[in-house]
Amino acid sequence: MRLSKSFIPTLKEVPNDAVIPSHILMIRSGLVRQVSAGIYTWLPLGYKVLRKIMDIIREEMNAIGGQEFHFPGLNPKEIWEQTGRVEAFGDILFQIKNREYVLAPTHEEIVAFHAKGSIVSYKDMPQIWYQIQTKFRNEPRPRSGVIRGRQFIMKDAYTLDKDTAGLDVGYALHDKAYHSIFDRCGIKYFIVGASSGAMGGSKSEEFMVKSSAGEDTVAYCEKCGYAANAEVAESVAVSAKHHAESKTVYEISTPDVKSIDELCAFLKIDEHETAKSRIYIHDGQPVLVLMLGNDEVNETKLTSVLGGVVRPAHPDELKEITGADAGSIGPINFPHRTIADNLLKEGNNLYSGANKNDYHLGGIDLKRDAPKIEYFDLRTTESGEKCIRCGSTLEVFKAIELGHIFKLGTKYSEALGVNFLDENGKEKPIVMGSYGIGVDRVFACFIEQNFDDKGIVWKEPLNPFDIHLIGLNMKNALVSESCERIYIDLIADGYEVLFDDRMDASAGFKFNDADLLGMPVQVIVGEKNLKDGKVELKNRKSGQKKVVELSKLLDQLQEPF
Ligand code: ATP
Ligand code: MG
Repeated sequence: MRLSKSFIPTLKEVPNDAVIPSHILMIRSGLVRQVSAGIYTWLPLGYKVLRKIMDIIREEMNAIGGQEFHFPGLNPKEIWEQTGRVEAFGDILFQIKNREYVLAPTHEEIVAFHAKGSIVSYKDMPQIWYQIQTKFRNEPRPRSGVIRGRQFIMKDAYTLDKDTAGLDVGYALHDKAYHSIFDRCGIKYFIVGASSGAMGGSKSEEFMVKSSAGEDTVAYCEKCGYAANAEVAESVAVSAKHHAESKTVYEISTPDVKSIDELCAFLKIDEHETAKSRIYIHDGQPVLVLMLGNDEVNETKLTSVLGGVVRPAHPDELKEITGADAGSIGPINFPHRTIADNLLKEGNNLYSGANKNDYHLGGIDLKRDAPKIEYFDLRTTESGEKCIRCGSTLEVFKAIELGHIFKLGTKYSEALGVNFLDENGKEKPIVMGSYGIGVDRVFACFIEQNFDDKGIVWKEPLNPFDIHLIGLNMKNALVSESCERIYIDLIADGYEVLFDDRMDASAGFKFNDADLLGMPVQVIVGEKNLKDGKVELKNRKSGQKKVVELSKLLDQLQEPF
């Protein structure tokens, strides 16, 4: 393709609203343009790569027996009401005003609609149905370019089975296909067991990529591959100290001591001898949450333990509830419900707040002095803690979800009455699975993992072109004639070539564009080398250059460098 005739609007400047590398580079290299918040147009060069990703997904989905559909984006609202998901999706669901339609954020309902009455017997299953199509979600905070858009492309697949054994098979097939897809795209990823959120159902796993732009926090063990959402992650943590003899409770004056670190310094003790109190309001009632030392309360774990609505108490509520300010609160004689982290279970001779400003208590034996405490796993896993599975060091970081596989079960088939007749002629709901991949996210995550200070560094098989052919001074007849010949020869040899044949662009401008666009190999054609019958090759990734005989160009391109 000739650059002089292409629409690849590269930019030198970093766009204002872009922060993460993939977003910046996708705009700068003319792959996408924003139309409005969270809504993007894929420009021709970007769409070329997007199609390559879709082709890989298609091949792998077809290889597991998937059949490709194209479901409508505009859905009757009624069917979404029947599954309760108009409410479940809430504001994220785009609704067409004055019309009973929604814009589909996913397609379980439509799949169930087609299965109903068509899949009538156990003999009609298993089925794997998929599509690659636009989804609409009114994300409250679209950000990071195409990573969180209000309109995006998803590959969504659905399995229909007669029982959970069949579902297990379909789930395993998708798990395998997802590995192949992400491996073939050259993306480094890991897998996290997850909760299924608004989708319902039982087992689910997420395929994740480490990225500062991620909105999920995960704990990951490089050694054994243990990975879990920080909301549920566990680690080998050190419990509260247990002494052979319990002292009795005594009061200590601790002026200006507010934090656990200050308390440890003041009393010359270890944080594993301290218990920190946090007050939460649960369905209108105070609850004291007691943590070991500096451990932080994990509010997701807390919410799942307590159920209902949970929020931290405001500072003015603290005084009213406990008689003290934050920093002096403690569990002894606390008149409301108290729950504690499991690590405190065996602790004695502990130090904690006295519910009186500037005082702490020592000699606390929780079993003896606060026998009503209930114990749960409430702590937040932190980087550097030991892996629960192999004892190696865990790293906690932000990650982006690329894909998600769920065992849905019969939630949707029951809601929509999608039944079949089993071997005994008995009517049963179809067992469903659902499997998504964010196609735009795969694209952005590839760039997140393959760029340098000059631009994108494409590699096989997603590279938009194999070779970037640069004619340095196209006004020079020798250069332009040689370039035209090279261009034809390379294409004849099977290469996809982007030819910078622009007349007026300077050499520096062309080099910068070539580095920014990031094709794996650059063939640089200039008058000086041509006079010796030579051209220059540049490896975009390593930056390495070599001058080769023009007559041996095709052979030289085969040589690794
Ligand atoms: P997230 O937790 O990031 O909001 P999700 O759990 O809502 O994602 P799913 O419903 O599982 O997403 O959708 C399947 C896939 O679609 C996700 O794994 C992700 O790659 C992609 N995806 C979801 N929401 C968006 C979005 N707003 N923009 C781009 N891709 C998205
Ligand atoms: Mg998900």
